[in-house]
Amino acid sequence: MPAARKFSRYLWAAPATLIGLVAALIARAGGGSLRICDGMIEAEAPLLARLPAPLQVSAVTLGHVVIGADRDALAASRLHERVHVRQYERWGALFFPLYVGSSLFALLRGRNPYWDNHFEREAYRAERAGAMAARRAGTAAVASEEAHEQKQSDHRNAEREFGCGGEREADSRAPAGLRRGADVRSHG
Ligand SMILES: [Zn+2]
Repeated sequence: MPAARKFSRYLWAAPATLIGLVAALIARAGGGSLRICDGMIEAEAPLLARLPAPLQVSAVTLGHVVIGADRDALAASRLHERVHVRQYERWGALFFPLYVGSSLFALLRGRNPYWDNHFEREAYRAERAGAMAARRAGTAAVASEEAHEQKQSDHRNAEREFGCGGEREADSRAPAGLRRGADVRSHG
């Protein structure tokens, strides 16, 4: 992507990113860690898992900032949250009223405000497609040695595209006790 276009996407999403940065810094003060991952900031916020049940999510995206309950939650929801990042790049700060409007529209039709939200449906579609692609790569890999090599290559590509290299860790001070599984039901 040309640098100017990339910059304009960051600029357009900046109001939401600023809110995300404040939330990420509060999370860091509460014991979470921050790292830069493929042009986004990922923040661990153990407090997220301690919210009352209706508000409990494993991860939430605000502009180019993704906040997750812990590292496992961030990894598990990466595909999903990246769709939300793209949505912020498309809609900027308008994403907030559009998201709420989509939930209200779902409610008015007697649907679920979260699962039938347009933006969540788009994110879950991408998540399912990613999971299917990963399964296909796994099946192909056992067929032959050649396929195995392809899997290694796919895996490396997937890591480049979706992964977050440990060498880019900014801080890994979160205690091991926080490394619990992503046991909450939804992403933000
Ligand atoms: Zn979501």
